[in-house]
Amino acid sequence: MGVDLSPQNIKELMARFGQQLKEARTRDDLELMKRDWVSKEGFVKELFKGLRDVPAEEKPTVAALLNELRVAVEEGIESRERALRSEALQAQLSSEYLDVSLPEAATGLGSIHPISVVEDRITEVLRPFGFQSVMGPEIETSYYCFDSLNIPKHHPARDLQDTFYTETGHVLRTHSTSVQARILQHRAIFENCRLPVKVASYGRSYRNEKEDASHTAMFHQYELVWVEPGLTLAHLLGLITHILKELYGKRRKVRFTPRFYPYTEPSVGPQIDCSVCRGEGCPSCGGAGWVTIGGSGMIHPNVLREFKLDPEKVSGFAFGLGTSRLAGQLYNLPHLRAVYENDLRILKEIV
Ligand SMILES: [Zn+2]
Repeated sequence: MGVDLSPQNIKELMARFGQQLKEARTRDDLELMKRDWVSKEGFVKELFKGLRDVPAEEKPTVAALLNELRVAVEEGIESRERALRSEALQAQLSSEYLDVSLPEAATGLGSIHPISVVEDRITEVLRPFGFQSVMGPEIETSYYCFDSLNIPKHHPARDLQDTFYTETGHVLRTHSTSVQARILQHRAIFENCRLPVKVASYGRSYRNEKEDASHTAMFHQYELVWVEPGLTLAHLLGLITHILKELYGKRRKVRFTPRFYPYTEPSVGPQIDCSVCRGEGCPSCGGAGWVTIGGSGMIHPNVLREFKLDPEKVSGFAFGLGTSRLAGQLYNLPHLRAVYENDLRILKEIV
């Protein structure tokens, strides 16, 4: 005896399938249903096989009912599968939900980097003087870095400022004085040597330096240039002293020692008494009790002439303060590298 293909049985099967589908809660339940209903050995195939024993006149009706059952089974399983997938996705989304609008647990405010603190303070001190603030490139041509500043090729000063060269012959600037050359050239070419020139610039400089307590291969400088008829060395010394006293307090000692730079004449090195050892002598001041915090001087006549200025009529001065050393002194850092190490113990102290 074959399968029961009576319309009543087919309708009962349809109802049973509907009930099972409703109860299927997991993907495993559905897999079992697929095996029972739609696989090669499943009910639907079995029923179709029985069709050949059905009398010819009943065949169309039975076949139509069987088709109805097959479609209902296939579509039912498929839609239940989709529903289960979407439920799983919803569950995953809600379990991984992250409310980005929730306030974060407080981690404390950040602080301003020592270098930026010094740069901001100097800029603030200079504000009443009316300096224009400019930026210059860190990768320079040797013209702006050396040649235009009275440091021709083979000049021994180039050895003192050994730096990093690119394959195209450019240099990482050894001093921010290169910005001074660019400013003066711009005034000479485009502004008919308009005076006064009062420009401040700060940023990184690089030297092929053996690192020690007071030297790093990359350091920061604050450069200032002032060109105007009648300027003397007294103006230069006065301005630097003013900046340093504003930065460190009136009691801090400032002195100037003679220096040599090819681009200034005369040249002086501003020094302050070491804040780490209070003048006693320590590694950060090389045992001297004094720290040289930059280079300065009256702009060399050759440099003035290079930029179409007459040294008989116009004078000017320039200085580059070592921002890294100033920062080291401001926060009593025994080693210059500490300025760049982003040690939280140091950064946390800074307001
Ligand atoms: Zn010292």
